[in-house]
Amino acid sequence: IPVDDFDLVIFGGTGDLARRKILPGLYRRFVAGQMPAEARIVGAARSDLDDEGYRQEVRDALKEFLAKADQSEEQIAAFLSRLHYVSIDAKGEDGWKELNQLMRDGVVRAFYFSVAPVLFGDLAERLHHHKIAGRDSRIVVEKPFGRDLESAKALNATLAEHFDETQIYRIDHYLGKETVQNLMVVRFANVLFEPLWNAQYVDHIQITVAETVGVGGRGSYYDKSGAMRDMVQNHLMQLLCLIAMEPPSRFDPDAVRDEKLKVIRALDPVDPADIVRGQYESKGKANSYLEDVENDESRTESFIAMKLHVSNWRWAGTPFYIRTGKRLRARQSEIAVVFKDAPHSIFGAQAGRHRNILTIRLQPNDGMKLGVTIKEPGPGGMRLIDVPLDMTFADALGSDGEAVPEAYERLIMDVVRGNQTLFMRGDEVEAAWAWTDPIINGWQDRDDRPHDYEPGTAGPEEAAMLMHRENRRWRDIK
Ligand code: NAD
Repeated sequence: IPVDDFDLVIFGGTGDLARRKILPGLYRRFVAGQMPAEARIVGAARSDLDDEGYRQEVRDALKEFLAKADQSEEQIAAFLSRLHYVSIDAKGEDGWKELNQLMRDGVVRAFYFSVAPVLFGDLAERLHHHKIAGRDSRIVVEKPFGRDLESAKALNATLAEHFDETQIYRIDHYLGKETVQNLMVVRFANVLFEPLWNAQYVDHIQITVAETVGVGGRGSYYDKSGAMRDMVQNHLMQLLCLIAMEPPSRFDPDAVRDEKLKVIRALDPVDPADIVRGQYESKGKANSYLEDVENDESRTESFIAMKLHVSNWRWAGTPFYIRTGKRLRARQSEIAVVFKDAPHSIFGAQAGRHRNILTIRLQPNDGMKLGVTIKEPGPGGMRLIDVPLDMTFADALGSDGEAVPEAYERLIMDVVRGNQTLFMRGDEVEAAWAWTDPIINGWQDRDDRPHDYEPGTAGPEEAAMLMHRENRRWRDIK
């Protein structure tokens, strides 16, 4: 279904994010027939280019970042004809008049701030001053949304000078992932799960976001941030909210975001003994973390594991274990809801311990599986085995199913539709920082040093201990 006609301006339209994610995503929506015939995309950045030059750059980006199967010369040419370019200076006067002339009246106006956050204020101010953005316009902003509570508040205040909260779309692309949304549907459209979704039946929950890459060329940026700021405060926190939240009364933006906010506010401060930080060592020709960031003294973590408690009626006593890190054994993101043992085993000790585990896999092979215990077929007596009930989306729809849109394309279309459900509200971001800040400050005060870990593993040994000491274990990263 096509969305309303729109003009989308991408500030930073020549940058890495625009080339890798935003423009390929828009192309895929174009091919899917979702872009109205007149819709315009305007790249706005510092480079001195004209429309043709920009189209050439975008063509190169599409060739590089789109799957081969998605590339069609004809479609690419048609898509490129929608593109315009304005050379603009966020901090000066160049380009603003030209941009204004390109914008059409009576269509949705959206402005993607794909530039460094220090420029957000300049962009908001100039969009307002030149009367390019009005009451109906929308702006899209990316992480990092601040680096602590104070800077996040300042950023929110800057945007609030010119835009209402209903106009601001803070992207966390984890929320655009198909399986993450499916998690909400599985929870709230079935009777099966919700009665069990609490401390009485859930032993614990694990959230893992493992990467195989190191910090690469982003070393100097990453070293000022670390896994806590770069991953936990935003992505893992959002996943935790969707798992832990109460059922919203409606699937509407504020109803959902109110419930997520309550989860963040219910998080206990974390005991330092429940946190393990790590830095990867070198392996073969690959650099260590310290070499990658060119800072021998760095105490920044490239890995973190922690045990959290959501202090409310539903979750009292159920731990949430979360971990994320770079240069781990595999690229794997998943949530596992580990249910308690059956209260009594009628099959005797030899049947072993069998647990129901619901795994929600974001990547690779996204989908959901519920492990259930059944009898091993055959005459060998009462032997129990675990089998997965596979709720994988692609399989259920078969090969006729429409290709699953990627996170960015779905979210950009939601901006045009004016649906904020999958975007973070300002108070959510601030609440997450309010919880994060004391943890990070604690490390600084105690001069906390991360543990070393070998690349290609599941992180430092100490992270495994977080679970072992409580007779639990992390799920394999493989
Ligand atoms: P980049 O450095 O590759 O691109 C920056 C863009 O901003 C360029 O198009 C440049 O021309 C433009 N620009 C810089 N100064 C300008 C000015 N004064 N006026 C107008 N345009 C100006 O950056 P990026 O990696 O594309 O990241 C953009 C934003 O998205 C950053 O805030 C970044 O933190 C965030 N982000 C990026 C990624 C990613 O994968 N690259 C992921 C998440 C978030």
